[in-house]
Amino acid sequence: MAAGGSTQQRRREMAAASAAAISGAGCCRLSKIGATRRPPPARVRVAVRLRPFVHGTAGASDPPCVRGMDSCSLEIANWRNHQETLKYQFDAFYGERSTQQDIYAGSVQPILRHLLEGQNASVLAYGPTGAGKTHTMLGSPEQPGVIPRALMDLLQLTREEGAEGRPWALSVTMSYLEIYQEKVLDLLDPASGDLVIREDCRGNILIPGLTQKPITSFADFERHFLPASRNRTVGATRLNQRSSRSHAVLLVKVDQRERLAPFRQREGKLYLIDLAGSEDNRRTGNKGLRLKESGAINTSLFVLGKVVDALNQGLPRVPYRDSKLTRLLQDSLGGSAHSILIANIAPERRFYLDTVSALNFAARSKEVINRPFTNESLQPHVLGPVKLSQKELLGPPEAKRARGPEEEEIGSPEPMAAPASASQKLSPLQKLSSMDPAMLERLLSLDRLLASQGSQGAPLLSTPKRERMVLMKTVEEKDLEIERLKTKQKELEAKMLAQKAEEKENHCPTMLRPLSHRTVTGAKPLKKAVVMPLQLIQEQAASPNAEIHILKNKGRKRKLESLDALEPEEKAEDCWELQISPELLAHGRQKILDLLNEGSARDLRSLQRIGPKKAQLIVGWRELHGPFSQVEDLERVEGITGKQMESFLKANILGLAAGQRCGAS
Ligand code: ADP
Ligand code: MG
Repeated sequence: MAAGGSTQQRRREMAAASAAAISGAGCCRLSKIGATRRPPPARVRVAVRLRPFVHGTAGASDPPCVRGMDSCSLEIANWRNHQETLKYQFDAFYGERSTQQDIYAGSVQPILRHLLEGQNASVLAYGPTGAGKTHTMLGSPEQPGVIPRALMDLLQLTREEGAEGRPWALSVTMSYLEIYQEKVLDLLDPASGDLVIREDCRGNILIPGLTQKPITSFADFERHFLPASRNRTVGATRLNQRSSRSHAVLLVKVDQRERLAPFRQREGKLYLIDLAGSEDNRRTGNKGLRLKESGAINTSLFVLGKVVDALNQGLPRVPYRDSKLTRLLQDSLGGSAHSILIANIAPERRFYLDTVSALNFAARSKEVINRPFTNESLQPHVLGPVKLSQKELLGPPEAKRARGPEEEEIGSPEPMAAPASASQKLSPLQKLSSMDPAMLERLLSLDRLLASQGSQGAPLLSTPKRERMVLMKTVEEKDLEIERLKTKQKELEAKMLAQKAEEKENHCPTMLRPLSHRTVTGAKPLKKAVVMPLQLIQEQAASPNAEIHILKNKGRKRKLESLDALEPEEKAEDCWELQISPELLAHGRQKILDLLNEGSARDLRSLQRIGPKKAQLIVGWRELHGPFSQVEDLERVEGITGKQMESFLKANILGLAAGQRCGAS
């Protein structure tokens, strides 16, 4: 009872802290299982921390170029006009004298309670190298930072909440990874190599094969975390700038299982991220020309900026997939998490430009809206005897390593109904690992339902009323989810068609040249050429085993299928076809890149959507910054927006790919 009493008090404290810190933004209410209602929004919180001068370093005796005004705002000298200062306002500002406890209690502790509600949370430390990110996140034994404090509190809280006699059993696991040069490296198992990032049908981001260590005490945490951190530090010293160019991501999962009916389970994920240094490497190294060769561009950080901009502008395409970090953060930025960004800045003048750029990034991030929701489902033994691990869901190629005994523990903190025939039952489903995730999930639900009927020896309708209702609701919600996906797909298709029609009007014959072997008839011009979504094209190009796909339309129904799956009679039907091989696409991209880097203004004007003004802008940018490393860099040219860049790519990649095809045949 004592534990229960202190838990209540602790919860009240956390709730009070949260209410104080989260002004205006929608406080999170628990949603129902797989709620179909739109979850309430929660803006990304942004705090800025100014570190003190570090004695003995360059510029330590200069006057500061930035200073705090109050607990939310600061000002920095304006390099354009020395009479003025630039003022910024954030959710919190922590000055030179702020302590580790101030930052933790003010900005981090309030979001931890959401983990016990099955919601996700993330803390990101941003800023130039040397501005105090690692100090804020990790700290030192004398001044522990956010990570040890959060772990200490979270473990204490889960022990209390999960104590015997409480309604939920709780377990905590940790994973620790590093993203270095677009490789995801498991710091708890450095030998495992680059890991893949996946998304399940609910939009959860997963890393199959990533080590998860169960932890029940802070000593457990340190036992795993300290050697892994040391690995990273040793690497940093040896490789000099490695740590400033890599992102360190600590993932803590809180798994909850209800002890009594309806036996719900929840999972909350906490990401604690020490980001790579945000300084502009173009300014600091290699005269700004050999960016790609020197590896000075940190793709993930660059894309993070683009993701934040796309979210702010409400663009239909958010480029999460363009980097590992943003893919990992997909459910944390503009996704399902409560997020806090701590921008770390330094007072010295030599940091001035990086400080301004970090403050601008922080100001843009403030506008991003997340929609946190409760990640809740029924425990597998309620639905049936089949327990599906992440590895099993994704099939053998995704599961890089066999699970160790520790990882087995993760999934089953409490004894469950024995999955005696699980492997036999799963075998046909494993083959479907490449299926549409929504469909796969639906099949799995049905499978579980059937299994539960079989194992209990009773039909669905004779199960106790409450459980039955829950089961029915789950199925109903799955249907709704599938409907929602279908509507979304239809919308996308309508958009593509409208775009295509518009491009037709603009006379883009190269782009619309049909790649199909069929002859174009004048009567049905719109049915012959299909514009594929750029993302799909990129995915196909990126996938080494990508097969040729056919996008077909039968009346109002359209499917994306593998060539092999087509029945002969279906082939004969009047349908749209588009065949593009990844090689052709890659070739198209390369051609554009070559033109961007080597073409004269006149050459550039031969591309679709590039007029004399844009051609000049591109040439000017190239002279100033050196060659483009990828076609998407076009967006960095002042005067060319992300949207324009995308429509430029759509208009030209297909055209050049088609040109290549014709030339080759
Ligand atoms: P980053 O991780 O951003 O590169 P660090 O955390 O390593 O920066 O900080 C650089 C130096 O500044 C370190 O010596 C660190 O101890 C010191 N430092 C950073 N923030 C503070 C602070 N708030 N108070 C005292 N020293 C700090
Ligand atoms: Mg650091």
